[in-house]
Amino acid sequence: MAEFSIIETYFNRQPHAVDVGIGDDSAVIQPPSQQQLVICTDTLISGRHFPTDTAAHAVGWKSVAVNLSDIAAMAATPHSILLALSLPSIDHAWLQGFSDGLYACCEHYGVSLIGGDTTQSPHLTISVTALGWVAPQTAVTRSNAQVGDLIVVSGTVGDAAFALQHLGDPLQQRLDYPTPRCVLGQQLNGLAHSMIDISDGLAQDLQHILTASHCGACIELSQLPLSTRVQALPLVEQWQYALTGGDDYELCFTLSKENYQKLLQRHPDVQTTVIGQIIAQPQLQFMYQGQAQSLKLNGYQHFASE
Ligand code: ADP
Ligand code: MG
Repeated sequence: MAEFSIIETYFNRQPHAVDVGIGDDSAVIQPPSQQQLVICTDTLISGRHFPTDTAAHAVGWKSVAVNLSDIAAMAATPHSILLALSLPSIDHAWLQGFSDGLYACCEHYGVSLIGGDTTQSPHLTISVTALGWVAPQTAVTRSNAQVGDLIVVSGTVGDAAFALQHLGDPLQQRLDYPTPRCVLGQQLNGLAHSMIDISDGLAQDLQHILTASHCGACIELSQLPLSTRVQALPLVEQWQYALTGGDDYELCFTLSKENYQKLLQRHPDVQTTVIGQIIAQPQLQFMYQGQAQSLKLNGYQHFASE
C-alpha cells in the first residue's frame, strides 16, 4: 500500500475550520482577527517515549495530548495539528488503532488534523505540530514569575512515573492517556504570571520557570497533590515520583494570591493545589510540615533524602 492509500484510509477525516484541508500541498487557515499564532512540535519515538508494546490507540492519543499540553501551558486555545509519521512497515491493525486514538484526542479537545507527512523509516517516529491562538501579549511564558507568587499545580503528580514502574496498575491510564489541561490553561490567561507543563518532572520543570524568571521557590512537600496509590508509598518514594517522575502533563503556574482567588471564584470546580511560593533567593527549597528538608536530586530520575 502506498503512502497515498495510508493517508486515504486512516487520515482522511476532513478537518473543520479550515479553508483548505488534507489533500493539497498545504492547509490554509483563516486566523481569527487580532490573535497571535502559538505553535509547537513534539516527537515520540517508540521505545524511548513510550514502551514498544504500548497500545496503538494510546500512542495516537498521547502524540496529540503532549502537544496540546504545550499549547495549554501558554494559556492559548488549541486549533489544529499536523502529523509527521515515520513507519518501519505497514501494519493495518496498528494504523487503525493509532488513527482512532489520535482522532479521539482531537475530538475530545476540539482540534482538527489538517495535514502531515507519511514516510518509511526503521524506527516508528511520530511528530505532531500543534497550532493555537492567543490574544496579543497574553501568552503566559516561563519568565515572568514574581516574588511572592503562589506556585500551583493542576491534578495529581507522579502518577505516570508510578505506572511506568507498575505496568498493569490502574494508574496506567494516566501514563497512556494524559489529559492536557486545555480549559485551565485558557482560564489562566490574564491571571497567571508564569506557566509550564510538567513533562520531565515537577522539580525540573519548575526549575525552568525559576531560571527564566531569575528567582527561587519554597515548596511544602506535604502539599504535593498525590493520588491515593502514590500516597500509600513511603514518603521518600512519594516525593521521588511527584518531583522527578515524567509524563504528568499537568500545569505548574505562578500567580498572585488575588488572582488565585479570582480563579477559584470564577471556576470553583478547578482541580489545583498550592504547593509553595516564589522567593527572591535563586534556589529550589523544600519544607516538610514547616521543617527544612534537604533533598538530593540525583540526576533525572532518582533522589534520596539526606
Ligand atoms: P506533498 O507531496 O505535496 O508534500 P503529501 O503527498 O506528503 O504532499 O501529502 C498529501 C496530503 O496528505 C497533504 O495535504 C498532506 O498534508 C496530507 N498528509 C500526508 N500525510 C499525512 C498524515 N500522516 N496525516 C494527515 N495528513 C497527511
Ligand atoms: Mg506538494
